[in-house]
Formats: sequence, structure tokens, C-alpha cells
Amino acid sequence: MRIKNQYDVIVVGCGPAGSSTAKSCAEQGLDVLVLDRNLEIGTPVRCGEGISDNSVKELRLKIPSSCIAQKIYGAVAYSPSEKSVHIKFPGTKGYIIERKMFDKWLAKQSSLAGATIIAHSNVVDIIKKGDYVAGVKAEILGEQNREISSSIVVAADGVESLVLRKSGIKSEKKPLLVDSGYQYEMENIKLKHPSLIELYFGNKIAKRGYVWVFPKSKTSANVGIGIAGASERSAKAYLDEWIAKHEMFENASIIEVNGGCIPVGGLMKNMTGNGIIGIGDAVNQVNPIHGGGIAESIKASRIAGPIIASAIKKGDVSGKFLARYDREWWDKYGNKLKNVEKVREYFEKLTDDQLEDLADILSGDILVELSHGKSLAKLIQLYARFKAKGIKRKLFGK
Ligand SMILES: Cc1cc2nc3c(=O)[nH]c(=O)nc-3n(C[C@H](O)[C@H](O)[C@H](O)COP(=O)(O)OP(=O)(O)OC[C@H]3O[C@@H](n4cnc5c(N)ncnc54)[C@H](O)[C@@H]3O)c2cc1C
Repeated sequence: MRIKNQYDVIVVGCGPAGSSTAKSCAEQGLDVLVLDRNLEIGTPVRCGEGISDNSVKELRLKIPSSCIAQKIYGAVAYSPSEKSVHIKFPGTKGYIIERKMFDKWLAKQSSLAGATIIAHSNVVDIIKKGDYVAGVKAEILGEQNREISSSIVVAADGVESLVLRKSGIKSEKKPLLVDSGYQYEMENIKLKHPSLIELYFGNKIAKRGYVWVFPKSKTSANVGIGIAGASERSAKAYLDEWIAKHEMFENASIIEVNGGCIPVGGLMKNMTGNGIIGIGDAVNQVNPIHGGGIAESIKASRIAGPIIASAIKKGDVSGKFLARYDREWWDKYGNKLKNVEKVREYFEKLTDDQLEDLADILSGDILVELSHGKSLAKLIQLYARFKAKGIKRKLFGK
């Protein structure tokens, strides 16, 4: 294997966004290099590892059983006082995967499709020719100052994307649009519902705080917290406090610790420039209600691959040409995700008392619709009617 000085496409980052885009480009006959700074693709994990069955089906992913820790059949959402709403329908199935295995599996798929992937390769800068991005500078397998040219660079380097920053594409990473996430993988938990994910909400947990318990077996789970970026204490402090209040963790062990930033909004109209295209967490392609980005990044890669191929075949890698990707992504996914963002904005303004009210009136099916960015008007109406009834009862005793 020889690392060449010129490729059609250099993909920076080999998470789900990078390896899927690389696969899609290689399938179009392009010469693709993927560089990832990690020593091992998929490690360290920074993820709750949840993915819905709907997404798996839509993406036609044939995930090997070795990458699946636990099949999930639905969810339980808890109000601040821990009133529960059960969400269990045929459409709410999902998986808790093993990201270490899953990311490697995705990488192997793109390698088999023809892309060259090199781990332990840190991209430190981009190369520019005029106002075009034309390659990268990297430390590849310990070799410093390697310069490699390409027609297009794909910024798939995650939430802190250096490539995007260097290329001058403005990313919306405002503190309120990026949560801090912290998570333990725990063993020997007394799980109430090993085949359901559990979601806990409320300002008691932390400002705009939520906790997830994603089972990985009957006795183990990813137990994590997301809090607003600009909070008083650390995500770890809030998570430890929450765990201490819950008996199910009394005898539990912590077998892995991870965390990271979770974009929960800031969907970008412009994710492209001359010779550059952004994908995945780098450009905030996540579901803004929970920050889930595995499926969203793979969905975007399926749009990006053919557009990159046609730009290279036509010899036009200008931002103007690549903006087709912006438009197609917004038409297919962006506008729907924008509606989901509105639902999140509505929920994050609610007090704990209002969240308690909602636990009384919300059914699982409305919660599912809300998570898809639908039914917000229905919810607001339902809540207004509920409050009006309460006032009537107080005033007239009926
Ligand atoms: C605590 C937490 C829990 C989460 N839970 C879920 C969940 O349950 N479900 C879900 O769908 N999503 C979840 N997410 C989000 C999910 O992990 C991301 O959306 C997803 O990984 C995005 O994929 P990506 O390929 O864009 O970025 P990443 O997976 O972050 O991959 C980026 C890659 O780029 C590499 N890289 C970065 N900089 C460089 C550089 N300069 N040179 C070379 N390589 C570089 C990194 O090593 C990394 O491998 C969670 C996130 C966090 C932090």
C-alpha cells in the first residue's frame, strides 16, 4: 500500500459521516483517501449508541449482529417527578449498537468499496490554491508535514471540525446550540425495562438537562446526561448527583467513561465552498431534539457521494456547483429537522410544573410525532385546553 500525493477526494475523519461518504464516492469510481487521527477507528466512543430501526431500514444498513448490543422496542419518558409515559409501537424499535465495532464495520465497507483508510493520521491544516481548498497537510502514521492534494476535501472531522474552520465556512457552534454530554457504561444495574430506552427530563436534573439510560444487556447500560453548554456545573457533577438518587445503580460498576459536545441545532444553510464539503457533526447534521447524528450523517453521505462524483467528472468543484448538496439535503432532511428544532425550543422553555402537566396529557404516539417535528400545534392546543379546564375547575368547581 502506497499513500499517493494526489487523490480525487480526501475525507478527513472516519466516523459514520466520513466512512459513509468515502464509500459512496468510491462506489462512483473516485480515488478516495480517508484520514483519521485515532489509533483505532471507532475508539474512543463518544456516543449513547442508539439508532432507530426506521433509520436502519431507510439506509438499508445490514448491521452485523456483532455490532448490536441490545434490541430495543420502545422508550419510557419520565417527567421531573418521574411520572412515566410509555412509547412502544412497531415504529419505535431500535438498537443499541457497539460503536467501536460499528464504526470499524462501516470503515471496512468503504475500504472494500475501494477507499484507502489510514488511521493514526492527524490533519493539521488545509492546502489552498487561490480560493479553492486543494488538499491537506497531515501527520500520517508518525510522518510529519505530509502534503496531499485533492480535487475535493470532505470535512467529516466531527463537532470541533478544524477543516471547516480553516476553510472559512461559518459553523453555528453557539454555546446554547451545543450540549455537553457525559456518559458511563455501567454494569450490574437493576434495569426496570432492559428492552426500552429510558429518558428523564426536567430542570431538576440540570438546566435543559436530560438523562438517558440505554440498555446494552439485561444488566448493563449507557447512562448519560446532556446539559446546556453554558451550565453552572459540569455534566459529570449533574450525572453523579442523578445516579446517586436512583437505587437501580446501588451496586453498579463503571466500565467505561466518555463524553463530548453534542450539537442540538444550528443547522447550516451553507455547508460547501470551493473544493470543500462538510458532513455530519462538523456541520451540525443531527436531530436537534436529542443530538443523535449517526443516521443523519449517513443519510447526508448518500446525497454527497454522487454530487462529489459529478463535480469531479465535470471538472467543476466550485462552491456554486457543490451547493447542490446544500439544497438537496435541505429539501430531503433539513426542513424536517428545522421543525424538530422548534419542538426542542418549545420544550426547553417549559418549567418543571409544565412538564408534569404534559406527562398527564401526552400520549406515546404524540411524543413520537413530536420527535419527528410534527404535532407541535396539536400539543399547544391540547395544553391550552387542559389549562383552561383546570382554571374552570378552580373557579366553578367543575
Ligand atoms: C455523549 C454523546 C452521546 C451520543 N449519543 C448518540 C446516540 O445515542 N445516537 C446517535 O445517533 N448519536 C449520538 N451522539 C452523536 C453521535 O456520536 C455523532 O452525531 C456522530 O458520531 C457523528 O458522526 P461524524 O462522523 O460526523 O463525527 P464523529 O463520529 O465524531 O467522527 C469524526 C472523526 O474525525 C476524526 N478527526 C477529528 N479531527 C481530525 C483531524 N484533525 N484529523 C484527522 N481526523 C480527525 C475523529 O478522530 C473522529 O473519528 C452522541 C454524542 C455524544 C457526545
